[in-house]
Amino acid sequence: MCGIFGYVGTRTAEPLLIEGLRTLEYRGYDSAGVYIPGHGSIKAAGPIDNLAKKISSTISGTSGIAHTRWATHGAPTELNAHPHSDMSGAVWIVHNGIIENYRELREGLQVSGITFESDTDTEVLAKLIGSFNYGDLHEAVRKALQVVRGTYGIAVLSEQAPHEIIVVRMGSPIVLGIGLDGNFVSSDASALLAHTKDVVYLDDGDVAVITKEGYNIVTLHGESKEKTPEKIEWDIESIQKKGYDHFLLKEIMEIPETIENTIRGRLVVEKGRAKLGGLENVLPELAAIDRLMVVACGSAAYAGQVGKYMIEEYAGLPVDVELGSEFRYRTVIPHKNSALLAVTQSGETADTLASIRKGKDLGLLTLGMVNVVGSTIAREADAGIYNHAGPEISIASTKAFISQLTAFVLMTLLIGRERGLSQKDGIEIATALSSLPEAARKILATTEQIKRVAEKYANARDMMYIGRNTHSAIAYEGSLKLKEVTYIHAEAYAGGELKHGPIAMLDKNFPVVALVPHDAVYEKMISNIEEVKARNAPVIAIATEGDTQISDIVDDVLYIPKVHPIVQPILSVIPLQLFAYHIGVSKGLNVDRPRNLAKAVTVE
Ligand code: GLU
Repeated sequence: MCGIFGYVGTRTAEPLLIEGLRTLEYRGYDSAGVYIPGHGSIKAAGPIDNLAKKISSTISGTSGIAHTRWATHGAPTELNAHPHSDMSGAVWIVHNGIIENYRELREGLQVSGITFESDTDTEVLAKLIGSFNYGDLHEAVRKALQVVRGTYGIAVLSEQAPHEIIVVRMGSPIVLGIGLDGNFVSSDASALLAHTKDVVYLDDGDVAVITKEGYNIVTLHGESKEKTPEKIEWDIESIQKKGYDHFLLKEIMEIPETIENTIRGRLVVEKGRAKLGGLENVLPELAAIDRLMVVACGSAAYAGQVGKYMIEEYAGLPVDVELGSEFRYRTVIPHKNSALLAVTQSGETADTLASIRKGKDLGLLTLGMVNVVGSTIAREADAGIYNHAGPEISIASTKAFISQLTAFVLMTLLIGRERGLSQKDGIEIATALSSLPEAARKILATTEQIKRVAEKYANARDMMYIGRNTHSAIAYEGSLKLKEVTYIHAEAYAGGELKHGPIAMLDKNFPVVALVPHDAVYEKMISNIEEVKARNAPVIAIATEGDTQISDIVDDVLYIPKVHPIVQPILSVIPLQLFAYHIGVSKGLNVDRPRNLAKAVTVE
C-alpha cells in the first residue's frame, strides 16, 4: 500500500506535497515524510498531521517527493519512514511495494561497507541505486532494478538533478499528473484531482522522468515509449467529506446514488435485459461458458459469494468463488469453458492482480469488476464492468461493496437472458433494481434508530452474525465491518452451522445479529434464532417490513423494505454498515482509518 506523491514545477512544492499526502492517507498512516532538494528530508511517525506539525514554516523549493507508509518491513517508526537515501545522502527515494530479495541484497551491500539505518526493504533499494550511481542516475536506477525481485512503484529525486523526478512502476500503481505549472506523480489519480485531470498511467516496466516542462517514458531496458495523457472522470467534490463527520458515513449515505450510478444506462427494463458495454465484445464467449470463477479478497470476496447465489439461481451458471491469495498459489484445474472474474474496488489488489495474470496464463477469458477507472486490473482484463461508485476514501468498504452487488445483479441479467431467464423474470429483476435506490433511502432515514441499537451493544466483547443463502455472505460482510471499524471480535456463520460448534460460545454476553428477511429460508432462520435465544444470547434481527412476529422473539429489530429476493441482500447490508459505524464512533475510534489497515492492498 503506501502513498507516493511528488511534484516538480514552478510552485512551492512543500504545501502541495502535504496536501497530496493527505488525500493518499487512506493508503497508509504509519509514518510520513518528504524530501525537498536543498532541504533534506523531514519525517514523522504516525499520521500526516504529525509531519505537518513538524514543518513550522513553508519550505521553499519547487520540487519534492513525499510518502505515507503502511509498514511491511520494519516497525512504523520515524527511522523506518520514507524517503530513504543512498549512502551519499544526495539521492532519495519513496517506495510502494516489497523488495523480496532485500536480505541478500543488503548482505551484499554490507560486505562492500554500506551501512543501514532502517529495517526497511526500501532503504536497501536506495543504497543499491547509490551503489550503481557513477553520475548517470537514470542508468543507476535501471541497473539497480535489474537485480531487484518484488513489486514497486518508486519516485527518485536527487540533489544533483533537483528538477527531475524518476518514476518507475513494477506491480504497484503509479500515475503521472500533467499540470499547467508543473507535473506530478501519485499513487492514485484521486490525489491529482486538485491540480489536473490529465494523467498518464504507467505500465509495469515503465521508467518515466518528469520535469516542470513535461515527461518522458522509457522501458527498464532504455527503449523509448510514447504515451498520451488520459482524462480522469471524477471531480474534486467527490473526494471531500461534504459536511459529514466521517468519510465512512458520507459513503454509506451515498449508497442510493451509488446504485443509480452503477445501473445508469445499463438497464432495459421493458425488455428485462442489461446492457454492459464493457462486456459486449465478449458476449458470445460469455454466453458459452459453463463455469465462472470469481476471484477477490476481503469484502469483494463476500460480494462474489452473494454474486454466486444470484448467478446460479437466476442464470443457471455454476460459479466458484475463491480468495485471490489462495487462487494464485494453488494448482488450478480450470473447466474448459470457464471465465475468471476479478472483483476489486481499487483494481490494484495485488493478489487479485496475480490471479488474473494466472487466469490469462491458463488461457481463460479474464473479466474485471473494478471501481477505479484506468487501474491495472481494469487495463489487464480482457473485458469488464466498471462500478462507477466514485472514490471510496474510508478504509472499510461500504458503497463500493453495494455497487459490486448491484453489478452482480446486472451480470446475472446479462448472462441469465442468454441462458434461458425468461423476459418476465428479467423484467421483474430489472424493475426491482431500478426501484432499489428509493428503498435504500428509506433505510438511511432510520439511522438514528440504528444508532440507538448500536450504542446498546457497543460494549460487547464478541458478536456473532448469522444468515442463510445470500444472507450468509452478508453475515460475513457484516461481521467484517464490525471487526474493521470497532475492533470487536465478531464471527459469522451460515445459520445452519451454529449447532455444529459455534453455539457453544453463546451466552447472555454474546449478542447475535440475525439476518432474517422474509424469504425462502425464513422459517429456518427463525428456528436458528430460537436456538440462540434458548442460550440467553441477545438477538438483533434485520427483518423485512411487515414481519410482526419477529419482534416477539428477538431483543431488537432493524427493519428494511421487502424487495425482490435477488436485491434483498443489497438492502440488508446497509443497517449492518451503519451499526458498525455508530459503535465505532461511540467508542471514540477513528472509523475512517482503522488501526493496522490500509486501502488498495497492493502488497501481498
Ligand atoms: N516495503 C516498504 C516499507 O515497509 C513499503 C511498504 C508498502 O508499500 O506498503 O516501508
